[in-house]
Amino acid sequence: MSSDSPIKSPTDEDFMREALKEARTAMDEDEVPVGAVIVQDGRIVARAHNQRETLKDPTAHAEMIALTQASAAVERWRLTDMTIYVTLEPCAMCAGALVLARIGRLVYAARDPKAGACGSVYDVLRDGRLNHCPEVTEGVCEAEASDLLKRFFHARRRQPDGASDSATSEQFQ
Ligand code: ZN
Repeated sequence: MSSDSPIKSPTDEDFMREALKEARTAMDEDEVPVGAVIVQDGRIVARAHNQRETLKDPTAHAEMIALTQASAAVERWRLTDMTIYVTLEPCAMCAGALVLARIGRLVYAARDPKAGACGSVYDVLRDGRLNHCPEVTEGVCEAEASDLLKRFFHARRRQPDGASDSATSEQFQ
């Protein structure tokens, strides 16, 4: 390979891999493995993972934490010039927050058939009744993201302390 090959600008896959790193951190912390990064002009301005158990906070989803970080980084709440990469389809709360933040674009990996609000159960971001409809791309690094979630819930089911099959019904929430 020649050394003067042009520098490749990062792709959606590259940024989703960063979000997957966050998801793995969540897994290490015994949290449902979901990660997110927010990108502005090809640069990551926020990275976060689900911390619901750690913070004992039902709103501590990766997207919510990342939005707060990104707004703090640029000192404004309107994030029209940014793209968020999330390893799992956002829920209704997070989809609502993305609309409120006027996020420019959403890229997510795996669908959440039980609670997804960006195409699965609801389609908040493409609801024309709202005054802001971000662009949505799905399925980027889908296999890696869903494999991580499957491994997490599989490991949980095998725990002897009764974190039983009900964990599956809670899957991805
Ligand atoms: Zn959420």
